[in-house]
Amino acid sequence: MQKRQFLRLDSPVQYIKGIGPKRANYFKKLNVENVKDLLFLVPHRYLDYSTVLKIKDLKINDEATVIGRIHLIEIKKAMRRGEMVNVLIRDETGSVVLRWFNRPDLKSKFKIGDCLIVSGKVTFFYNKQFINPIYEIIGDEETISEKAKGTIIPIYPLTEGLGIWDIRRAMNIALELCLDEVVENIPEYLIQKNRLPPLRKALNDLHFPHTIADATKARQRLVYDEFFFFELALARRKLKIKNQDGVPLKRTGTLTNSFLSSLDFELTEGQKKIINEITLDLAKSKPMNRLLQGDVGSGKTIIALYALLITVENDYQGAMMVPTEILAEQHYLNHRSTLEKIGVKSALLTSSIKGSIRDEVINQIQNGEVKIIFGTHALIEEGINFKNLGLVIIDEQHRFGVMQRAALVNKGINPHFLVLSATPIPRTLALTLYGDLDISTLTEKPAGRGEVVTKLYLEKEKTNVYRFINDELIKGRQAFVVCPIIEKSEKMELKSATEVYEEICHIFPNFTVGLIHGRLSTQERINIMSDFRNGKINILVATTVIEVGVDIPNATIMLILHPERFGLAQLHQLRGRIGRGAEKSYCFLILNKFVAQETYERLIFFEKNSDGFALARKDMQLRGPGEILGKKQHGLPDIKIGDLEQDQELLFIARDDAFAVVEKDPELKLPEHLPIKRYLKEFREKEELLRIG
Ligand code: ADP
Ligand code: MG
Repeated sequence: MQKRQFLRLDSPVQYIKGIGPKRANYFKKLNVENVKDLLFLVPHRYLDYSTVLKIKDLKINDEATVIGRIHLIEIKKAMRRGEMVNVLIRDETGSVVLRWFNRPDLKSKFKIGDCLIVSGKVTFFYNKQFINPIYEIIGDEETISEKAKGTIIPIYPLTEGLGIWDIRRAMNIALELCLDEVVENIPEYLIQKNRLPPLRKALNDLHFPHTIADATKARQRLVYDEFFFFELALARRKLKIKNQDGVPLKRTGTLTNSFLSSLDFELTEGQKKIINEITLDLAKSKPMNRLLQGDVGSGKTIIALYALLITVENDYQGAMMVPTEILAEQHYLNHRSTLEKIGVKSALLTSSIKGSIRDEVINQIQNGEVKIIFGTHALIEEGINFKNLGLVIIDEQHRFGVMQRAALVNKGINPHFLVLSATPIPRTLALTLYGDLDISTLTEKPAGRGEVVTKLYLEKEKTNVYRFINDELIKGRQAFVVCPIIEKSEKMELKSATEVYEEICHIFPNFTVGLIHGRLSTQERINIMSDFRNGKINILVATTVIEVGVDIPNATIMLILHPERFGLAQLHQLRGRIGRGAEKSYCFLILNKFVAQETYERLIFFEKNSDGFALARKDMQLRGPGEILGKKQHGLPDIKIGDLEQDQELLFIARDDAFAVVEKDPELKLPEHLPIKRYLKEFREKEELLRIG
């Protein structure tokens, strides 16, 4: 009875009986710090103990669960897939092999005699086997059948040092002592309408369900909450924007017409359509808030320039912020002279631009002499003031936080706003995830682009790859070689770009090799990039500074070293640097060590898929939408439990509900919306704490 007073939702898990500082540390790895986090720890699946089979009854292709004792452990080399851990388990009816690929961590995990509960698909290879099954080391077989009889056992994300029973025991105490403290987030009428369980019941059923159906409902409830509050934030943001007045910018044609006729290609239908949408938006007296999404190389820059020129036609300034200095430099160098020819002065501002040049640029921005400004984060620094900023464009928006975007917008008075994204997602999903923006999507690439072939190689096949590259270079093509970091770091065993540069020089003695990274000065970088552009450099060794936006149509080879270090989106961006001309292009990945199974699968997925939409979806599954949408650190609740593919129906319901709430009760004044208001307050306080921390 004593304990009851001491455990609260915000108590550290360490205070739960049976969990000392050591176990608390293991919980931390699961992002569980206090009792509340523990209650919201979502099992990733359930084992229905009543359906556990005897080993002799396993059938090929079934999803099944068995319990057995370890009789044999064996480590083997596997073809092309690194190492394999084989474990033989037995029950009183027979034995079955469990196989894991590339899981060196498992070697020390199992002991002969351990009792395992194993779940997965039964396959056949000489004998019945499980490949990469999920498993739990359980105590004694008797204990488990005793404790779990007739129940459904949640399987939590695995972490070292914590078994299911530790988590279950702690969960039991937490629920018993603290569930009453949990308050409802969602108005009663929405819970009823959507036939969801109340939050307390959901938390109870999440961890101790009577049926799988109860567990599923419980998870749905938590997913709904996530989606609902995410959408609510968007709905409120959209409402705020809707109430703003902006300056109408009407196209006159004085600059845009000559710009179009200066192009040596035809706009694609998609580009034309989006240019029309933007022209209409800009002419309105409400600020535009538009997302332009299109795969790498689909031609977003032209559209951005067109919008900037409409702005200048109205004697307002336009700014385009990009995430890397190289990209800012490229935009500026590529467009400066075209713009100059039609009488528009542009400027470049990055943090590498210093001293008197910087002072001059800042001055010209302030007095309005410069009309179009290309820059990086340097644009949002204090002391940079625009005369009259009419349009803000953010390129590669996923690389910026909301705060940074807002900082640039705030340099004008409700300027129009356009963000560009090369991580395209399906329209319905985009409408939902970017609910505060209008959306334009470029679905086609300009015609006449060469095919891009992607291939994953192992270190020992390197010579063949180099030979192939050599042949392409002889034909007059150019190559990028990308490696993840600049300087030597023994710990990460990565070759520094400098080392790679030397190696490449040695391998290709007949060609000129350049090296580019973030530590060079603006002028050095500009020189190297223009040498590469005009063919003086044949091979450019680079760090990820060239990841986004760089546009060199004659470059047809992208060689990526240590590809395991990159996420799907990054790899796709890198591959987007080639395939920009008419020639066939090649993206090669060289893997020089064994990697975890999931990493290997990611690389294979990349090798097989070139569609930006498919990659973006996969990436969202793997890393969660927060990373992909670039909404980390910007005040939107994160989506961690919900799966944007599987739970899409629930997402759309939550969106409609959230937008309806904001429309009906923008200030959340109605008594039935009190739970929402309370939750938002708590969320804001937490954000604030994080921000200060
Ligand atoms: P991204 O959408 O990745 O920003 P860019 O705007 O850099 O793509 O365009 C990629 C390349 O395609 C550039 O070299 C650009 O000049 C060219 N391009 C853009 N639109 C067209 C078009 N309609 N026809 C042919 N080439 C085009
Ligand atoms: Mg671009």
